[in-house]
Amino acid sequence: MVNIPMTKPFTISKGNMTMAKNIFIAITLTTGTQGYGEIAPFPALTHETQEDCHTKAHSVLGELIGLDVREYRAISAQLGSSLPHHPAVRCGIETAVVDALCREIGIPLWALWGGAAVKEYETDITIPIRATVETVTTACGWYQQGFRTFKLKVGGKAVDDIATLSAFDHAFDDISLIVDANQGYTVQEAQLVAKTLEGLRATVIAFEQPLDRNDVTGMTAITKHTSIPIAADESVFTIEDARQIIQERAANLINLKITKSGLLPTVEIASLCRASNMPLMIGGMIETRLAMGCSFSLVLGLGGIKILDLDTPLLMAEDPLEAGGYTYSGPRLVPWHSAGLGLVPREES
Ligand SMILES: [Mg+2]
Repeated sequence: MVNIPMTKPFTISKGNMTMAKNIFIAITLTTGTQGYGEIAPFPALTHETQEDCHTKAHSVLGELIGLDVREYRAISAQLGSSLPHHPAVRCGIETAVVDALCREIGIPLWALWGGAAVKEYETDITIPIRATVETVTTACGWYQQGFRTFKLKVGGKAVDDIATLSAFDHAFDDISLIVDANQGYTVQEAQLVAKTLEGLRATVIAFEQPLDRNDVTGMTAITKHTSIPIAADESVFTIEDARQIIQERAANLINLKITKSGLLPTVEIASLCRASNMPLMIGGMIETRLAMGCSFSLVLGLGGIKILDLDTPLLMAEDPLEAGGYTYSGPRLVPWHSAGLGLVPREES
């Protein structure tokens, strides 16, 4: 188990975290090669806790002894039937499996997915829910470090959010915005906020999950009535969810997260979306560079993922991994070229 303090409390409409309470997994092949993965539960969103994940991981890891990591899809399917409701646990184990495989054969993890678009990418930076003044001053600090895409967490009282959004918009030139309500609004509130977003100077690239995850009809109504791109996040945990959102035109883009769906299921959701002309973004829970590096491997390997919300290591007070893997240069994520994820947890983690 690894507990990493956040530099500031991470507050969203569904809860608050001051500490990332995650778990690192290591698996060892018969050759001695090790692979690593991260379980990053976010109790308010996935109803998984660190303790629960720890118990579940222990119960299932024994079943994997003796399996062949080259059959990683079969392993993923087995995990899917053992732990259907623990995507974060599955994700951590799947990551360790593919990391071990790639280290064994000497390729970076993104090469396993095809190396479609290996280059630097820019991430957004998340501003958790705060009073208006603190929202603007926090963003100022990031702006000075080169960040130009801001993800504002909203979903409290719509009138307050609208005031914050307007103040924010006046404070910065030439920025892009993602506004994430984490299911916090009613249909009327969401429409009111969408109207505000249409009038901002900033380029609004996504209005994420305005409504409850199960209100697909409401999501369709919002998507139809605004020019702002609506993103489905909590509405899409599984491939069936993604299919429904696509069929009912309930969003303009889908936010992938390996921790909410599992790693290989995320690859499947991405394939379905691309075949259906559904644009993609990718984000995470409160993850270190281990889980986030795995998400970045999908960006580099699969291609076609345009919007990156891969910033949570920047919100942590420490990095529990040894140097290596992808790096941050201001808002840019720089790819790595060593085997697997190129990352090893520090001794004490
Ligand atoms: Mg979201």
